[in-house]
Amino acid sequence: MKQAAIFLSLLFMAACTTSTPVVNAPVVASSGNGVQYQLAQQNVDAAIYQNASAEVHRLYQQGYELARIRLDANLGRPHALPPAVIVDIDETVLDNSPYQMANALKGLTYSPRTWKEWTSLARAKALPGAVEFLNYAVSKGCAVYYISNRDEDEEDATVRNLVVEGFPMADVEHVMPMAGSSDKTSRRKAVSKEHSIVLLVGDQLTDLDQSFKDRTAGQGKPHVDALRDSLERYFIMLPNSMYGTWLDGITSRPDSVKVGNKERFLQQSGY
Ligand SMILES: [Mg+2]
Repeated sequence: MKQAAIFLSLLFMAACTTSTPVVNAPVVASSGNGVQYQLAQQNVDAAIYQNASAEVHRLYQQGYELARIRLDANLGRPHALPPAVIVDIDETVLDNSPYQMANALKGLTYSPRTWKEWTSLARAKALPGAVEFLNYAVSKGCAVYYISNRDEDEEDATVRNLVVEGFPMADVEHVMPMAGSSDKTSRRKAVSKEHSIVLLVGDQLTDLDQSFKDRTAGQGKPHVDALRDSLERYFIMLPNSMYGTWLDGITSRPDSVKVGNKERFLQQSGY
């Protein structure tokens, strides 16, 4: 558990509601056929891949199959406190690709208003394997905590959505929304006060540790390699082609595609 404890001491800042938004296609389109516009168009494919591909369907199944293997192994090791599993919500246990599809087809991207309209409907479907895995974890004596950067005013609808989809321990005690700060670390620490965290599952590397937020060096890939042992043991990485901290690898740099630097974008691609 020492490795996990080290990770849990770091800050977390990325989340669905705060990650770098994909550019707004209509606005950029009006200013010319730049790289931003091209990237926005590509988000249509990203949303389709996430929403409609059998490949992503299988990737979630595969991720949760691996989660069960890792959970069994970690439960087999000594742990001082009752065990707990931490999962993110969006694109980890609930599928918001219908919202992204609607945006893509309208030429729009994320906005807080339309996002909350979607979450208030409480009709996101469970992702493949998620309910089965978390019920398995509970059967093995684990508590389940849902640490999400959905806002507090989304919590009631989120709990309702999780209950409808059959998730265990889906209540206000175990669903931990963003309370003023997108930093998830304090919430992970709160869980670790009374539990040994035996596994974390997310669609962002930052669902394990804030240190993955920094993508300036090699788009974050060397850091993944450096922490590979801990990632392998404690974290299950799920796919999200639609949004996330990974966009920072190309859009947060001063010389990035944000200013329409096609040459820089091409250089980063390795072409
Ligand atoms: Mg997520």
